[in-house]
Amino acid sequence: MTTTPKIQVTDLHKAFGDNEVLKGIDLSVQSQEVLCLIGPSGSGKSTFLRCLNGLEKVTSGTVLVEGQRVGDPKVDLNQIRENIGMVFQHFNLFPHLSVLQNVTLGPVQLKGLSKADAKVRAEKLLAQVGLADKADAMPHSLSGGQQQRVAIARALAMEPEIMLFDEPTSALDPEMVGDVLQVMQDLAEGGMTMVVVTHEMGFAKNVADRVAFMDDGIIQEAGTPSEVFDHPQNPRTREFLNKVL
Ligand code: ADP
Ligand code: MG
Repeated sequence: MTTTPKIQVTDLHKAFGDNEVLKGIDLSVQSQEVLCLIGPSGSGKSTFLRCLNGLEKVTSGTVLVEGQRVGDPKVDLNQIRENIGMVFQHFNLFPHLSVLQNVTLGPVQLKGLSKADAKVRAEKLLAQVGLADKADAMPHSLSGGQQQRVAIARALAMEPEIMLFDEPTSALDPEMVGDVLQVMQDLAEGGMTMVVVTHEMGFAKNVADRVAFMDDGIIQEAGTPSEVFDHPQNPRTREFLNKVL
């Protein structure tokens, strides 16, 4: 039996003017799979994530999310985006809204949930990310790690089927990183389909089902964590790992 992948990317090219950033990416992500994307700065990792939810228009090739082509005029991009949560390096919480309001806003405005139902859902999610006592706090009063966990709860409040993370711990003080990674690991163990761009090699080793190394606009190598970290085949992968491990 074959199942439709959650995400299927075929010969994806993306150029900004003359700068071809993605040069033919083929990658699929199965339901409940955790894919970690690693690679040097400037290699196109963020651009790739943004192509998955239509934040960037692809130059050529196809991105299918649950079989629907992103960028197809017949496909409702808003519906695809509601199905894909995204967490960024900079958490981008709404500064004038409380933690609870940050988490309830999307479900109320975009999904038509009642305020009461959205509050129940938000409180459950805040407990899940360890912030049950911060519902009434304002974002600026929280640490970076706490704000990032609110951002994860906010994304989850839309009940996405897929979560994309773009270096979610890169802007955090070192002592904050562990709590955020733990929330992500719990999510992975709960069966969420995830694509995670990260420099946290420990997380990639322990949590990823598959690791893909991107450099120079293509996936140079992909495999299980053990294949990529312990037995890298591509000299570029080896060189990168020597620098970061
Ligand atoms: P990474 O996330 O791996 O560090 P990025 O995807 O951010 O890499 O960037 C890859 C390349 O694409 C860089 O050369 C960057 O300057 C270029 N780039 C990214 N976004 C844009 C944009 N909106 N306009 C022009 N160039 C861009
Ligand atoms: Mg990036």
